[in-house]
Amino acid sequence: MTALLEDPAAAERWCAAQRAAGRSLGFVPTMGALHAGHLALVERAVAENDATLVSVFVNPLQFDDAGDFRAYPRDLAGDARLLETVGCGAVFSGTLEQFFPGRCASATELEPGAYVDPGPTAEGLEGAHRAGHFRGVATIVDRLFDLVRCDRAYFGAKDFQQTLVVGDLARRRGGPAVVVCPTHREPDGLAMSSRNLLLTPAQRERAPAIHAALAAARERWRSGERDPDELASTLRARLADTGLALDYAEVRDPRAWTAHAPAGPLERAVALVAARAGDVRLIDNLRLDGEDAA
Ligand code: AMP
Repeated sequence: MTALLEDPAAAERWCAAQRAAGRSLGFVPTMGALHAGHLALVERAVAENDATLVSVFVNPLQFDDAGDFRAYPRDLAGDARLLETVGCGAVFSGTLEQFFPGRCASATELEPGAYVDPGPTAEGLEGAHRAGHFRGVATIVDRLFDLVRCDRAYFGAKDFQQTLVVGDLARRRGGPAVVVCPTHREPDGLAMSSRNLLLTPAQRERAPAIHAALAAARERWRSGERDPDELASTLRARLADTGLALDYAEVRDPRAWTAHAPAGPLERAVALVAARAGDVRLIDNLRLDGEDAA
């Protein structure tokens, strides 16, 4: 049975009880509307820990667009049913006020001193295109880590820059261990995302162009291209005339994050894309050097 815990305080008590019983604890933070990509993270946590907990919270602090926050899909009852199928121990949600008692300035903001600095990996790309996004991510993840005090926390490579920000945060805090899991994709290559539910049939048909562009850049890498600007040109050329509006299509050294494109030639590379299909913003990335399976 997956316990449906009523609020963050109940989750804190549940986690304390697991620790008191000597159980290792795995944690998967999510914004819900769960899909197979999320469930793969939970399955990995279940396999690697004695107890696993999932949070479902559409965190207003990490949205730079109120319309996007309102439209974000929510289905806690459906999420709880899915978590049951993969043996998750407990799930919880809460309001911003419940997560940050006495520190909210409004339903979507905290008082200025309550935010956590996301550090240098928040610069560039997502950080540049979504003002305050990683500050919101770092703030909620730090709070969640305080509440659950897990041994391992699981994040998806789909949000590549987020894994850097969270990894950095966990290092600064002295834990937990951050486990990064491969991106789950639809058969046509589209990275699974809760936002895919919002795509019209026509937009859904165009969306796999993002993965096709990433794969084309990987082909160039495989045939010896190491220049980040050249690789990014391939991404942009493949995304032109697809009906998707590009926020960015860039290449970075995954181990030495830079806000701007690094000077080539690269020894390691990750290609990252953010594009909008109508109002729906999609992000994806691919290691060009084949260092992971995603
Ligand atoms: P979200 O609910 O979008 O905040 O995602 C919660 C966690 O699931 C994050 O660590 C995401 O990176 C991860 N995730 C989302 N989509 C995928 C996917 N397609 N494959 C693997 N992990 C994912």
